Amino acid sequence: MENTDGTDDTVAHGYGSTDEVDPQGTGRAARRHEAVRAAVEQGLLDADVPLVALLDVTGIRESAAGLRAAFDAVTAPGTPVLHAFAVKASPLVPVLRLLREEGIGAEVASPGELALARAAGVEPERTVLDSPAKTPAELREALALGIAVNVDNPQELERLDALVAGSGSRSPIGIRVNPQVGGGAIEALSTATATSKFGVALRDEGAREWVVRAYLDRPWLTRLHTHSGSQGVALPMMARGVSEAYALAEEINRRAGRQQVDTLDIGGGLPVNFASEASTPTYGQYARVLRETVPGLFDGRYGLVTEFGRSLLAKHGTVVARVEYAKSAGGRPVAVTHAGVQVATRTVYAPESWPLRIAAYDAKGRPKEGPAVTQDVAGPACFAGDLLARGQELPLLEQGDYAAALDTGAYYFAHHYAYNSLPRPAIHGFVPDSTGAITFATVRRAQTIEEIVAESGTTHTDALTALPS
Ligand SMILES: *Cc1c(COP(=O)(O)O)cnc(C)c1O
Repeated sequence: MENTDGTDDTVAHGYGSTDEVDPQGTGRAARRHEAVRAAVEQGLLDADVPLVALLDVTGIRESAAGLRAAFDAVTAPGTPVLHAFAVKASPLVPVLRLLREEGIGAEVASPGELALARAAGVEPERTVLDSPAKTPAELREALALGIAVNVDNPQELERLDALVAGSGSRSPIGIRVNPQVGGGAIEALSTATATSKFGVALRDEGAREWVVRAYLDRPWLTRLHTHSGSQGVALPMMARGVSEAYALAEEINRRAGRQQVDTLDIGGGLPVNFASEASTPTYGQYARVLRETVPGLFDGRYGLVTEFGRSLLAKHGTVVARVEYAKSAGGRPVAVTHAGVQVATRTVYAPESWPLRIAAYDAKGRPKEGPAVTQDVAGPACFAGDLLARGQELPLLEQGDYAAALDTGAYYFAHHYAYNSLPRPAIHGFVPDSTGAITFATVRRAQTIEEIVAESGTTHTDALTALPS
């Protein structure tokens, strides 16, 4: 299998499967060009509104369909498969509702994320709760709702022992294990290292036996969970993590003398290609690597849960920012835009791990032509490192042009960082109609300055001066 590491932008050919609708991303790029131009023409973007985020609804639907098709192609007929979207990747109610309509549930990891999933109408039986720090109240709520719970550690299991007894809850419950198969290229995102904070570390002394006993003592433990992939982790390593969980499920079932573990939750973590337009690796490629590595998982004895986040949304989001000023420093052109650390926090603070492609558009929102010039694209925040891109080759950005940060649909503009009290930008979803004309819908309106003031303690203005001095 070629190109399974997510770092190479060549597209695998010859699989001929139906899950790869637009692997080169040509349709997506064309839709983006139309959307940027329409955003300028329709006044969603101008001198007074210098920053917006756009979501490609067609692309999101295609990715959801690709995910479903990829697992349909490798599972035995009738296998229950729940694709639960990792809400943290795009905590926006309209996005969760769109995915729900596409047959995708929700993986939540906090009371806030659970509330968003519920607001979007995601059914309890299509919701999974994972978090390393669940409070007793959260656990009680999950059991009352009947949503699935993945237990992180022995102390949490002890809490559940008390809560489950006599609760009559329908919640499927499993334990999260860390197969400790090793990390990927980005340390902060690697969940399967020897010392990762998540789940029960399977290779630690006595841990495996503890997990097996935990299941044998508790007939209500029927699932097993691992989430070992993430950006920077190669597909074979992800599949090895799943393979370890599968082997453990087989051992538990053998020793229980019955199919006690009936569902494996294999997590998410498919890497996204930020280096070019192409969608690689695909869900189809990952599903095939999984079937080759862990064939027993697909023979119909196990139901499956997946928890993909970034790979469903990243390619479908674009931040578009107006170039307020174009200047030069030390001989390098610098475009000062309105998109920086507040919408691209990871890129600004860890540029080596999270480089973004920038596309240049002119003042009318048309793709900018011209020779490539090495330039920096800066944000509006008041610190020197607030750069969206360093030394990127682009047609020279000039005052009044627009810089688009591509592939920012997951973990970027939906994760606002309030540095310099910069407001959250509006997010607009878009679809082209049959003539190619773009229709926009508001996903989240822009935060106002009044809201920033209100959220910054204005009702407590005298709180500190009123204290005894
Ligand atoms: C973050 C997370 C996911 C989603 O990861 P992606 O890399 O966005 O696909 C899935 N499951 C768990 C438990 C997570 O913490």
